[in-house]
Amino acid sequence: MKESNNCSFCGRSIKQVNMMFNGMNAKICDQCIINGYEMINENAPMHSSFDVSKITLHKPTEIKAFLDQYVIGQEEAKKFLSVAVYNHYKRLIHANKTKKGTNDVEIEKSNILLVGETGTGKTLLARTIAKMLHVPFTIVDATVFTQAGYVGEDVESILSRLLQVADYNVEAAEKGIVFIDEIDKIARKGDNPSITRDVSGEGVQQALLKLLEGSIVNVPPQGGRKHPEQKFIAVDTRNILFICGGAFEGIERKIALRLNTRTVGFNATKKKDQVDRNNLLQYITPHDLRAYGLIPEIIGRLPIVTHLNPLDRDSLRRILIEPKDAIVKQYIKLFEMDGIKLQFNDDTLDYIVDKALEFRLGARGLRSICEVIMIDAMFELPSQQSKEFTVTVEYAKEKLEKADLSRLKAA
Ligand code: ADP
Repeated sequence: MKESNNCSFCGRSIKQVNMMFNGMNAKICDQCIINGYEMINENAPMHSSFDVSKITLHKPTEIKAFLDQYVIGQEEAKKFLSVAVYNHYKRLIHANKTKKGTNDVEIEKSNILLVGETGTGKTLLARTIAKMLHVPFTIVDATVFTQAGYVGEDVESILSRLLQVADYNVEAAEKGIVFIDEIDKIARKGDNPSITRDVSGEGVQQALLKLLEGSIVNVPPQGGRKHPEQKFIAVDTRNILFICGGAFEGIERKIALRLNTRTVGFNATKKKDQVDRNNLLQYITPHDLRAYGLIPEIIGRLPIVTHLNPLDRDSLRRILIEPKDAIVKQYIKLFEMDGIKLQFNDDTLDYIVDKALEFRLGARGLRSICEVIMIDAMFELPSQQSKEFTVTVEYAKEKLEKADLSRLKAA
């Protein structure tokens, strides 16, 4: 039989293709190789297994040391988070080793709730921990959720996101970690008479509860280009770790009320004058969360509650210069790329912190203030001869006073 010069897979002749590869008894064209490669990519993640035993287990102190490089202060929150992640890994490894049916101790997961004013580092903590995780991780915002059937996203979309980052490897997604930001926004707004139907409150909490307590949830693949024929993917949430964060604005009033009224009981030893009125969040209990409008079942599924401290002058100053990617370090790097040695005087840093405090902008404001101060220098210096630039407090003042500060306040 005469050997054909056509592709053995699609039959195209050598003239119809860019390249033809010869095998022992067959030929394949470039297009068939590309098609084959795509098919492998599309299907492989679904079948490849997620190997828990390959996870490097970092000790809680190592996890915290990593967080320390990026997040200033917030010692307690970092400690709780490090332990939660460490235990999450241990639980996965344990579950992997224990055969189904054996009655070995089952380690339950401990979801965690971070409470802290906005801009104190909750999301930063979540983002930073994500850098060192070996399991799928996603951050979602609770404000977008509404009760099923209403405009907005269903709670199940959390799992769609997790599936997406896990490249649709269900087994991997089932071991992932989810950070739910602004969980306080789905608190029951029962006190408010103008809200007739609480579509973004209790209904959402009930839906979320299903995910938190661990059940099989049918997830729409959403944008799942890969499996258009598949309507739902069943995801078991039993091993997914949920970290929630929220500012719980106004909860201090409820904490204060409780601390004032509770004169007897196990807290009676804490004298009223010992209470730090500037940081009431540190005394938060499940009771306060309930008073705020979280349903008891949700609270029960978030057994670890920890707080972030408000950022004082000292912390803000450290945030400017200390973290691995501190704002000041970033400007120095930017100028270095133009061959310019940039310096900030100490009193300039103090001034920036003072302004952030004065405008009540917190850590988020540090960057906007710096941008206003630095914009002219960033515009002009690259085309000038000078190879050094020092940001003096006079320079900073001049730039900031000229700028429209009301814009900063609204930020
Ligand atoms: P939250 O989620 O609590 O509202 P973020 O984590 O988004 O606040 O913080 C906003 C920004 O402020 C961060 O991106 C970071 O630049 C800075 N920041 C806040 N808290 C800290 C902190 N403790 N250490 C370092 N930077 C911080």
